[in-house]
Amino acid sequence: MHLETDGLILGEQSVGESDRLVTVLTRDEGVLRAFARQAKRVKSAKLSATQLFCYSRLSIYKGRETYIIDDARPIELFFDLRRDLEHLALAQYFCELARSVAPQEAPAGDFLRLLLNAFHFLQKGTKPLFLLKPVVEMRMLSFAGYMPNLVACCECGRYLADPMYFYPARGELACPDCAPRLGGAPMALPPGVLTALRHTVYADFEKLFSFTLPEAGLHALAAASERYVLCTLDRGFQTLTFFHGLAPR
Ligand SMILES: [Zn+2]
Repeated sequence: MHLETDGLILGEQSVGESDRLVTVLTRDEGVLRAFARQAKRVKSAKLSATQLFCYSRLSIYKGRETYIIDDARPIELFFDLRRDLEHLALAQYFCELARSVAPQEAPAGDFLRLLLNAFHFLQKGTKPLFLLKPVVEMRMLSFAGYMPNLVACCECGRYLADPMYFYPARGELACPDCAPRLGGAPMALPPGVLTALRHTVYADFEKLFSFTLPEAGLHALAAASERYVLCTLDRGFQTLTFFHGLAPR
């Protein structure tokens, strides 16, 4: 069976002397692993189109047990992500997150659109890293079926207080009156940070990346979203550890 689709290369490894095994987030079949035969030959068009971060038009043969990339044409290389180690590390984390939660053998156009937008902003350097990171984390988890309930206090329905308490393990909010009864270790979110966290989950996609917060607020937002990812998925990410090893915090 043949599949014509577009996709973003999330990972690659060499196989033998000239072949390559890539993990790709495709629009129509989600995350899949596919062989690119002779991709490392210098004149092969597949060389650039199957390297990490490349967004490509793909022609894929789907066998019984393996996918084979027949043809690959680069649409956008995102090569500039490599110019800055922090940008590179964050892009790799986004890829690892997508590999973890994006669907397999099912359409993943929303995941792809989210990553492509994030990569564009990351490459241009026009948005703070600690804005891009929580947006990608919260929206990707929401796409994957882990949407938190950030509408109001889970006990009494109160919409806003200063602060509201966020429970990363439950994906819920509580107001200052109800939080003491719930126990646990919630994170106190001032109104601006709560508004931004709600935005990452509920905003229309066209406006998703369009908000601002002072730097301290962005760090609080990023801390909340990261706790939510780690609690919800109950796993760590090597690329995230690497990113924090670089980032001045
Ligand atoms: Zn309450």
